[in-house]
Amino acid sequence: MAGWKEDKEKFLSMPLDAKRKFYAGKQYKQISDIPTWEEYAKKATLAPQIPSKTDFQIDSSLNSSLCKKVSIFQGDITTLEIDAIVNAANTSLLGGGGVDGAIHRAAGPNLLAECKTLNGCPTGDAVITGGYKLPAKYVIHTVGPRGEKPGLLQQCYRNCLKIMAERKLQTVAFPCISTGIYDYPNEPAAHVAASEVRKFLEKNSEVERVVFCIFLDQDHVIYEGVLQSYFPLK
Ligand code: ADP
Repeated sequence: MAGWKEDKEKFLSMPLDAKRKFYAGKQYKQISDIPTWEEYAKKATLAPQIPSKTDFQIDSSLNSSLCKKVSIFQGDITTLEIDAIVNAANTSLLGGGGVDGAIHRAAGPNLLAECKTLNGCPTGDAVITGGYKLPAKYVIHTVGPRGEKPGLLQQCYRNCLKIMAERKLQTVAFPCISTGIYDYPNEPAAHVAASEVRKFLEKNSEVERVVFCIFLDQDHVIYEGVLQSYFPLK
């Protein structure tokens, strides 16, 4: 068996206590440490609401249950001890800057070894690998568009969430795909993220939590504003 395969199985079957010794950093967050959007909104004074931009009609009978299924978390996605974290990768899948570089550094070299066997990934698609030394069990790699291309960004969110459902994963975290090096404007990207996650959660009641992992203060304000429209609190 190739080295990465053995390593992948080893980490996936390792008891949590043992696995924690391999984490790159001392800090890790479990899903129970991350408030739901409903809990978060009770404590914080929220940024001004940003009206939704989609023509899709939300099923408002689900509002109170779906407010418990999403979260805003500001920080490093590589610290999340959840089922899967999403990587904003490039088509080569061979690593890069930004969140991609951080994920590869924290996972260790066997993530790259597994990625090399996948022969890349087209823009808008998604593939899943092991998480290796990351606190997350799996990494779902997706390739966002360069610049504002909503159809392709929607595909990224849909394809990651489809993998989540197929693999019966309960918890996933998304970074702000394409809004760094790929230069997608932040607010339009947040609308795509929130609306695709809302559509998915309306149909997939078995999912426990989808975390919007925000890195920049600017995105924090935007996500607080946008989530109030896609995940109304009352
Ligand atoms: P892209 O090439 O898709 O634009 P980037 O990695 O450049 O990807 O940026 C995507 C987003 O990820 C940006 O908001 C950036 O600030 C954020 N980011 C960078 N490092 C991390 C990290 N360790 N955890 C979470 N988000 C991160």
